[in-house]
Amino acid sequence: MVRVQRKKISLPERVEKHISHETPRIGISQCLLGDEVRYDGGHKRDVFLTDVLAPFVEWIPVCPEVEAGLGTPREAMHLVGDPDAPRLLTIRTKVDHTATLQDFSQRRVKELRECDLDGYIFKKNSPSCGIHRVKIYSVKGHPGKQGIGIFSAAMQKAFPLLPFEEEGRLNDAPIRENFIVRIFCYRRWKNKIQGQRITRGMIVDFHARHKYLLLTHSRSHYHDLGQLVAKAGDYTPRDLANHYGTLFMDALKSKATVRKHVNVLQHLVGHFSKQLSSIERAELQETIQDYHQNFAPLAVPLTLIKHYVRILAVPYLLEQVYLNPHPKELVLRHHV
Ligand code: SF4
Repeated sequence: MVRVQRKKISLPERVEKHISHETPRIGISQCLLGDEVRYDGGHKRDVFLTDVLAPFVEWIPVCPEVEAGLGTPREAMHLVGDPDAPRLLTIRTKVDHTATLQDFSQRRVKELRECDLDGYIFKKNSPSCGIHRVKIYSVKGHPGKQGIGIFSAAMQKAFPLLPFEEEGRLNDAPIRENFIVRIFCYRRWKNKIQGQRITRGMIVDFHARHKYLLLTHSRSHYHDLGQLVAKAGDYTPRDLANHYGTLFMDALKSKATVRKHVNVLQHLVGHFSKQLSSIERAELQETIQDYHQNFAPLAVPLTLIKHYVRILAVPYLLEQVYLNPHPKELVLRHHV
C-alpha cells in the first residue's frame, strides 16, 4: 500500500484548537482535509471544513480506497450494474474492487465504533464515499440510476443515529446549520448519559433545556418526547435513555424553517414581554417580522432576545440551548 503523508492543516490564528469532552468527533473523507489521497494524487480540500469548522471539531479522517490498499495514484473507478447491489469497477481496465472495499468497510466500521463519532462528512459523487446521487453506470458505460458509495452505505447501515452530510450540501446555509446543530446535540446527549449513572431526572432536565431547539425542528417529535418523559417512571433509566436518544436525534433530522423559528421567537418573547416598554416590544416585533420576510438574518431578533434574557435574568430561557446551540464563531445564523 502506498503510504500517504498527512499535510499539516493551518488553523486561523484567532482560534486555537482546543479539544474537550464537548468537542464533536467527526469522521471525514480524508481528501476533504487537503490530503493527497485521490485517484489522481490530488485532494479536494474544503476551506469551510479546514479553516472554519476545524477548530471546533476533532477529525477522524478515513480514505477507504487508500486504506483498503488501492494506493495513490490509482485508476479511477465508478459504480456499475444493479442500483441495489452495484459493483465498484475501474473505468478503463474493468477490475472489480467491490469485495475489497466491502471487506475493508466491515473492518473499518468496527474500528469506528470505538471512536464514538458524532457525525460524518463525506465527499460527494465518490463511488466509495458519496451518500447522495452517486452515478451508477450500465455495463456499456451509460449513466443510469443513482445510488450511494460502498463505504458510506456500510456506515449508514451501522450508525443509524449518526448525522451524515456531504461537503457540497454544506454550502447550503440551512443544511449547514442543521448538520452543525445535530453534531453538537449528539455530543451533548452522549455527554449526558455516558460514563455515569443515568437517572430519569437527567433526561427530564435535558429535555427541558432543548425545548425550543426541538420546536424549531419538529413539533410532533417534541410532543412525543414530552409524552415519553412524562411516563419516565414506566421505564428503567437505561431504556428511557435509549428511547429518548433515538427519538431526539430523529427529531433533529427535520429541518428548522423560518416559520418554525418565528413561532419559537414569539414564544421566547412571551416569557418577558410584560417587562418591556411598548417601544421595546414594538422594536422586538419589528426585528422578528424582518426575519420572517427575509429582510434580516435570524441573528438579529435573537441578539435582541438574548440581550433581554440576560438583563431581565429570565432563568428558564437562560438555560435554553436554542439561544446558543453551537459556537458563535461559526456565524451560522447570519444568512437571509
Ligand atoms: S472520496 Fe473517499 S475514497 Fe475518494 S479520495 Fe476522498 S476519501 Fe478517498
